Amino acid sequence: MAQEPMKTGLMKTIGAGLLREDDSGTEVQLAGWIGRRRDHGGVIFIDLRDSTGFAQVVLNPEDAPASQDVLHGLRTEYCVQVTGTVRPRPEGTINTDLPTGAVEVVAERLTVLSAAETLPFPLDGRTDVDEGLRLQYRYLDMRRERVARNLRARSKAIRAMRNVMDEQGFLEVETPTLIASTPEGARDMLVPSRLRQGQFYALPQSPQLFKQLLMIGGVERYYQIARCYRDEDFRADRQVEFTQLDFEGSFWGQEEVLETIELVARRVVTDLGHSIAPDPFVRMTYAEAMENYGSDKPDIRFDMKIVDLSAVLAQTEFKAFAGVLADGGSVRGINGGQLGLARSGLDALVSTAQEAGAKGLVWMVVEDDGSLRSPVAKFLSQSELYAIAEALDAVPGDTLMIVADRTSTVLEVLGRMRLHVGQPEGHDDLAFAFVVDFPVFDVHEDGTLSPAHHPFTAPASLETLVDSPETAVSKAYDLVLNGSELGSGSVRIHDASMQAKVFEVMGISADDAQRRFGWFLEALRYGTPPHAGFAIGIARFVSILQGEPNIREVIPFPKTQTGADPLTGSPSRVEEDQLRELGIRIAPDVVAAWAEEGGGATATPDV
Ligand code: ASP
Repeated sequence: MAQEPMKTGLMKTIGAGLLREDDSGTEVQLAGWIGRRRDHGGVIFIDLRDSTGFAQVVLNPEDAPASQDVLHGLRTEYCVQVTGTVRPRPEGTINTDLPTGAVEVVAERLTVLSAAETLPFPLDGRTDVDEGLRLQYRYLDMRRERVARNLRARSKAIRAMRNVMDEQGFLEVETPTLIASTPEGARDMLVPSRLRQGQFYALPQSPQLFKQLLMIGGVERYYQIARCYRDEDFRADRQVEFTQLDFEGSFWGQEEVLETIELVARRVVTDLGHSIAPDPFVRMTYAEAMENYGSDKPDIRFDMKIVDLSAVLAQTEFKAFAGVLADGGSVRGINGGQLGLARSGLDALVSTAQEAGAKGLVWMVVEDDGSLRSPVAKFLSQSELYAIAEALDAVPGDTLMIVADRTSTVLEVLGRMRLHVGQPEGHDDLAFAFVVDFPVFDVHEDGTLSPAHHPFTAPASLETLVDSPETAVSKAYDLVLNGSELGSGSVRIHDASMQAKVFEVMGISADDAQRRFGWFLEALRYGTPPHAGFAIGIARFVSILQGEPNIREVIPFPKTQTGADPLTGSPSRVEEDQLRELGIRIAPDVVAAWAEEGGGATATPDV
């Protein structure tokens, strides 16, 4: 077995992971990396891994004595090529857990294509590696099955999306990434212009306005696998850049958009190997979602709906409840089911509710005789206790949780408690839901309003929007899966005067609107077709289907939660020359902070 010079041309005849018993007797050429290696009295076994999986290779120095040195120098993660013959594994060594477990390749020739230094972490799936290190060496991390599997799933998901879009007659159109700002509610990422010093491009928060221009331009069905950029503060399931399936259509409305989303979602789910019931996706209004689940992205893998107990307690003498009801608040509860908690566990529920914003939480445990054990039981009449148990469908052993407060707080807190104690009832369930009829504005505790969607979303009624903006509903809809928002969209405004009015109600002055979106308002005046669309976040969707707790696991080269890339070191300082060309100076206080950090200043205030 000699170390051969590398051959040109195709370096392998088959993927290592594809070998099966049928291949026994054939000569194959494999190329990949050395995974585990084991020495057994002179005979060396290696797992040769490539993008298709891995196969066991037997290297016997006796067969080719010349190879001794090479064989003993072999280390894990060396990149090698092996020529050999496939044979069935000897009796007793067959591994039925592995697709290639019935065979092994007896090597006749081994070529080291590239040696590997000792890796910063082992690549076997058994070692827990710090995420910072994994991201810094993402190219090694993706040799591991977890990331590799997720990249394959992501590719399949995108292919499924493209296939459906194509079958449905959508045109794939790219839109620019150096644009003027699009208002999606986040901060823009800016790119300075060298040719026009002092001016900036924004990276798109989404292709929103371009897809609307495509509709004005007569492209009746558009889609794109679009990169979006939002400079938001960290959240576990957000990245500063992310990819969406973005689509838009003309001469259609909400129903057709939702049908299309359902087609896409179903294809992705099945192509990724999951099954899904044929029933149409559950649909509920935003108001119903909040009322029943205390969330606009309800996890409906379990029921545990919020129940309004205000009527049942209308006459109560229990001050904590009566006071809230008199102030226009409400008393609501959920039945947490058979939680079997000791007193400390019940107290912990109260703390969880307080962390979620409640002043307190009343728990009640249903005893075997049907009576309710609770710290507040003595303040409530027998008939009130009975009515609470009945309203919450309580049976012995159930733990009930009740919150009394402003209605929005009650819903929010019980929504969180529901997620805290609820367990999916089925196994591996995918619970999709469309939430429709979103309000135009989010109403904050202090009564102020902020737009719930981008300002190109059509209100259900302009009149209501103007007369009572806080209750106005928009033609906006979301897709939710297992309690996560997968995407959102809306029917758009296709009339320039309506758009101007909506800007006004949203607090964007006519001057401001003209300055920022004058070009778009003008475009709306040239015969804009009615149009509507949607965008689905690809990483979030794939991460749920892959059972991954974090979207970073399905992003090839993710950033950390603070927007940094530990692999390439971005964001990073740049050369003074580059800044000078752009007409940019770093503020003196920033430079001073750099100096304090001790990193030295590459760009000084007087560049
Ligand atoms: N542009 C929106 C977003 O990125 C989606 C849409 O309204 O189509 O969330």
